[in-house]
Amino acid sequence: MAAVKKAEPRKKAGAELPNDRGLFRYAQFVGEQKIEELLKLGEELRGVNLQQVSSARVGGGVAEMLQSVIPMEQELGLDVSWDVITGDHHFFMFTKTLHNFLQGKPGALDIIGSKMYWDTNRTNYKLVNERADVIIIHDPQPAGLITYAPAEARERQKWVWRCHIQLDTELCLMMDFLKPLIELYDAAIFSSRICTPRWRTAPFVILPYIDPLSDKNRRLTEREVRAVLNKYGIEDPAKKPLITLVSRFDPFKGHVYAVNAFMEVRKNLPCQLLLVGGTASDDPENQIIFGQLTEKVKGLPDVHLINLPPYNHLDINAFQWASNIILQPSLKEGFGLAVTEGMWKAKPVIGGNAGGIASQIADGYNGFLVTPGERGVAEMAERLTHLLLHPTLAGVIGTRARESVRERFLITRGVWDELMLIKGMLQNSL
Ligand code: UDP
Repeated sequence: MAAVKKAEPRKKAGAELPNDRGLFRYAQFVGEQKIEELLKLGEELRGVNLQQVSSARVGGGVAEMLQSVIPMEQELGLDVSWDVITGDHHFFMFTKTLHNFLQGKPGALDIIGSKMYWDTNRTNYKLVNERADVIIIHDPQPAGLITYAPAEARERQKWVWRCHIQLDTELCLMMDFLKPLIELYDAAIFSSRICTPRWRTAPFVILPYIDPLSDKNRRLTEREVRAVLNKYGIEDPAKKPLITLVSRFDPFKGHVYAVNAFMEVRKNLPCQLLLVGGTASDDPENQIIFGQLTEKVKGLPDVHLINLPPYNHLDINAFQWASNIILQPSLKEGFGLAVTEGMWKAKPVIGGNAGGIASQIADGYNGFLVTPGERGVAEMAERLTHLLLHPTLAGVIGTRARESVRERFLITRGVWDELMLIKGMLQNSL
């Protein structure tokens, strides 16, 4: 296993990297000192072989984070790779059912699906790098890989399971499936304290993060924003305010409640609703939910429902910048990067009071929290009306939202947390 090195005293960092290059481009958000500290930590972990394994290269929050985090960890000197497991429709149907179970939805798991789970994990074990010092496995889909690791490799390596969903620690119907599996790991990372179960594996909370320089989050010019609105036929938000929900089409995301609240508000105020999402290759439910929503909004005025192809970061970015208000009325939410992205664009976000959304929004200060589900529709309509009628207040809340993200939810902080965990594990000093 790679040893953690003592960092050499660094030369003045500015002398090595111009301030407009590499990691120093993030100094504009977090200050140079944070970047210096990160570079020092990278020195200590230089050459550590880290493998990240997930179930989708694009679509959803995990892919979003990994797309930015891998190059940053590489730049810091770690030897990092990202591998994505493959599976067929049965496998992903099973893992989506498992995902829904873990978030508290009732249902039935089929035995054939369970067999597919183990077969697919066994087939994908070839992706595992037995020379890696640390392996981070994201979410339940590839969690079974660990069971195929030979004892010799397993003893040398540290395995970490990272959970991005809101585990319903009380009602979870699949604890018996997941718990013994995750207890094989050396550590588990959760996105908020309330989703952390009491298992034997050492639990850590690391809040997710966004990359302010990615195509999803960088500042766009007015022209770029307008071009995207025109492409999709969305009216000028200065004339008709735009309320947006960005999300995979998933039953926990609360699209239906957003539509119901919007219809209430639109009775009295001119506004438009944009429901924009896409598909993730590990989520076969997307098309079904999209079909249901298409029926629901058929004939409703001022509602735009858009199913985007993958790699749509610029379009989503433009929609978020153009919006007056962002909605995320989730019933369950591991963290909710779409909330973070909206807050970063200085928008007031109205979110369901669930999982990681409550870690981001302080109700009434930098956004609003509403009761998840049908009971929250009237609350959502009331907050929407209030914000539409009081744009100055919306601006104040949005400004605070951006500042909250700058302080707590940027990638520089997230990478620091992850590398400190890795350092602690390699030194056996957690
Ligand atoms: N996203 C996207 N295209 C879509 C829908 C969502 O790029 O059509 C992105 C969204 O911008 C965010 C991520 O997928 O970065 C969703 O992460 P979140 O944590 O909100 O939810 P998850 O999908 O992981 O449950």
